[in-house]
Amino acid sequence: MKRNFVCIECPRGCELTAETTQNGVNVTGNFCPRGERYTEAEMTCPRRIVTSTVRLTDGRMLSVKTDGEVKKEDIFVVMQKIKKLHPTPPVCIGNILEEHISENINLIATGNA
Ligand code: SF4
Repeated sequence: MKRNFVCIECPRGCELTAETTQNGVNVTGNFCPRGERYTEAEMTCPRRIVTSTVRLTDGRMLSVKTDGEVKKEDIFVVMQKIKKLHPTPPVCIGNILEEHISENINLIATGNA
């Protein structure tokens, strides 16, 4: 199976082609080794940092993100959990708002309130 990707590891945005062979995944078009690692992860278990906002108990919105990459297949569940969160101020950048929101990944504040 052959698939095309655009590497999102840096602004260069290399156009990559990945082909599954008997020996694993053969990647071409990458300028550096990060593109190969990115493509292999995309082919096997794609992950993303999740960014969003939560509504505080006083009604203000606060930006949040996961402190690690969540499996793409789990992002919807994570977003459902985020939607139900209503932290009480004060909240500082880096505060953990929900431990283990997915696997060993936490949800943290990316702003102060
Ligand atoms: S392969 Fe390397 S140089 Fe190309 S976009 Fe990915 S990280 Fe950047």
